[in-house]
Amino acid sequence: MVSFSLTPSQNESTASHYDVIIIGGGPGGASAAIYTARAKLSTLVIDKGLTAGALGLTHKIANYPGVPGEISGADLLQTMREQAMAFGAEFRQDKVLSVDLSSDPKVIFASGGTYTARAVILATGSMGRARGVQGEEEFLGRGVSYCATCDGAFFQGLEVAVAGNNDEAVEEAFHLAKFASKVHLLVQTPDLKVEAEEARKVEANPVIEVHYATRLREILGDQLVTGVRIAPREGEETILPVRGAFVYLQGNKPITDFLQGQLPTTEGGCLVVDGQYQTPVPGVFAIGDLLCNHIKQAVVAAADGVISAMAIDRYLSGRAALRPDWS
Ligand SMILES: Cc1cc2nc3c(=O)[nH]c(=O)nc-3n(C[C@H](O)[C@H](O)[C@H](O)COP(=O)(O)OP(=O)(O)OC[C@H]3O[C@@H](n4cnc5c(N)ncnc54)[C@H](O)[C@@H]3O)c2cc1C
Repeated sequence: MVSFSLTPSQNESTASHYDVIIIGGGPGGASAAIYTARAKLSTLVIDKGLTAGALGLTHKIANYPGVPGEISGADLLQTMREQAMAFGAEFRQDKVLSVDLSSDPKVIFASGGTYTARAVILATGSMGRARGVQGEEEFLGRGVSYCATCDGAFFQGLEVAVAGNNDEAVEEAFHLAKFASKVHLLVQTPDLKVEAEEARKVEANPVIEVHYATRLREILGDQLVTGVRIAPREGEETILPVRGAFVYLQGNKPITDFLQGQLPTTEGGCLVVDGQYQTPVPGVFAIGDLLCNHIKQAVVAAADGVISAMAIDRYLSGRAALRPDWS
């Protein structure tokens, strides 16, 4: 896994144990990291991609306090992350696959490694999808995947499709290009929503073909995936004869799949917390768009991050019991 493109060698160690691990580096996670790092708590933020979350993919934001004019969400986020790194927080670009919140310390399993922490902040936002593409559920595990790092090698010499327009989709397309004979990258807009340099590398990769302004309509198959039906904005629907479909589309469902039921959720799939943003599991906090009980705005997620970070500082330094406020 690579570190963030800005100051890549800065704030990256080989450590795997931290006082605090923050899963998700959006405005919530990055703001929490500013405060935990500044409180001299060793802090790791694990995030799967700068443009994978709600703020990162936002084209323009003009209402973040202290930042007049228009700024892209990714630029604003990068500034927050740099601020956290300046206080000593580490950022690692990686995808968290599962966790063990019952153990002490808590264990985080990511694609690129396993990490432990005394306290964890969950800040993965709500860009999970509510609805699937036709055929997605049916062929899940039989050609449909959400993890090229896990499944890419199964597609040696075969054609695959990657649907999505964010850092994660592009990263996974590069990974698949090492194995597949062809990678069809399906993006819904006329351009790629990644850094210009990354977009140039995608264009230059002989294995990757980008289908711009094209939707994934259906995943087809028999026992296994045999193709995908795609709909270009201009032109006829066609079928690509792929054997794998890697789906990285976004929507608006809290991202909690990696928790595998270890925390209670509301009917809408949101996590529940007390006044300090602590979940019913001691030392585990949840902030930002993962919660349904307040306004979904960057500044609100940032404020949640600050409150949770200060609560963790109190708990880990023994100034308060590491016990949820759940009476
Ligand atoms: C189109 C759009 C426009 C918006 N416009 C505005 C606006 O103008 N002003 C405003 O204030 N708010 C705006 N918002 C809302 C705002 O962006 C969100 O409320 C805010 O980003 C939530 O912050 P968060 O940190 O909770 O989650 P997010 O910003 O979604 O960040 C979550 C992070 O978690 C990471 N992540 C998720 N799963 C994993 C995993 N398994 N492993 C590792 N990392 C993971 C993601 O990569 C992401 O970086 C907009 C939202 C959208 C969708």
